[in-house]
Amino acid sequence: MRPRKLKHRKLSKSEQMARVRSRDTDLEMMLRRRLWHSGLRYRLRPKLPGTPDLVFIRSKVAIFVDGCFWHGCPRHHTFPVRNATFWQRKLERNLARDRRVDEELSELGWAVIRVWEHEVNEDIGMVVSRVTGSVIQRLPTLKS
Ligand SMILES: [Zn+2]
Repeated sequence: MRPRKLKHRKLSKSEQMARVRSRDTDLEMMLRRRLWHSGLRYRLRPKLPGTPDLVFIRSKVAIFVDGCFWHGCPRHHTFPVRNATFWQRKLERNLARDRRVDEELSELGWAVIRVWEHEVNEDIGMVVSRVTGSVIQRLPTLKS
């Protein structure tokens, strides 16, 4: 890593990555707190394909909070100018993995909800109600 000299210099790619990652975590924590406060009980990172961020066991709903950079958000993803081919390939691999994970989970009977980090950031209420709605709808019903 180059020494930090200029106050307003551009961040190196790895510094940007580090920021992206820690912001993801903050947003995920924020979402967890909100879900918990609305009475939803989840488990973290279970042993399932793709290791979802949260799962609701009884209703079999798996939640992924997808980072805008890593998962190619149409609104926020940009390719770094340097090593563009490398990043393009990396994104393609990530997207292919996401699709594969979604398929595997759905074969196991799980509903997958993917939310963008910017959705959590901009409208967490919408995300919470989307998750809540799906969890409630999929709760096993007591049938006589
Ligand atoms: Zn985004």
